[in-house]
Amino acid sequence: MVSPKPEADTASAGASANRLRLVLLGPPGAGKGTLAEVLARRLRVEHWATGDLLRLAVRNGGVLGAELKRYIDSGELVPDELVIRLLLDRMSDGGAWQTGFILDGFPRTVEQARQFDMALQRQRLRLDLVFHFATSTPVIINRLSGRRVCPRCQKSYHVRNIPPKKPGVCDQCGESLVQREDDREATVRHRLEIYGAESALLLQYYQERGLLAEVNGDWDIELLYRTLISIFDRRALVTSAERDSLLAATS
Ligand code: AMP
Repeated sequence: MVSPKPEADTASAGASANRLRLVLLGPPGAGKGTLAEVLARRLRVEHWATGDLLRLAVRNGGVLGAELKRYIDSGELVPDELVIRLLLDRMSDGGAWQTGFILDGFPRTVEQARQFDMALQRQRLRLDLVFHFATSTPVIINRLSGRRVCPRCQKSYHVRNIPPKKPGVCDQCGESLVQREDDREATVRHRLEIYGAESALLLQYYQERGLLAEVNGDWDIELLYRTLISIFDRRALVTSAERDSLLAATS
């Protein structure tokens, strides 16, 4: 059953872009991370990417880091309990519940979605919208095989679509770029199989709650961005002034 919107939830009623609480769902390589970065900057909301949080935990080392690395490098999902605890701890640390946010790479399972909904309810909040980036396999393989990341500052590039100014070198910190272990083609195919197995129920979960909006993940980032803004507008999640300024944003 869909529960009524709690009183403390002001995002839809108040139409305020920097209070939006969004989820981006889609297979690896759907462009969620790139879009989430742009959207978070322009909406002025937090961007929480569980893949980034997990990779940070790996870099921090220890027994937990080693265990997480095994899951990530092989393309397997990290157990629900570990991911949920990591995300909720980090969100609570910075008082993140008071601002809008974009979740990227989370939830991956219905159990994660349920647990996150319970955490939101404890804060008397709820999600505003869940985007599903339906993306074709050739596009995914092309994006992931060309993805390069900076091991120091984590900035992400693509050898053709988002190249660094100097090939192989991070624009931000000058470090040599690397390919992620799990972006190799065999692992990408395994990640896609796992995504296929988990995603149908997850999409149904949000569909039943009236939160799901489908977009074409094959499109380029600017077209996707404009599509998302028009969906916010249609659903009265932003004011017309916010819509116009979001459409005019370039940085
Ligand atoms: P991503 O950067 O989103 O592609 O995630 C990289 C890897 O981190 C995934 O292949 C999983 O091993 C792990 N991971 C990220 N987010 C989750 C999640 N919500 N649940 C389980 N595992 C995750």
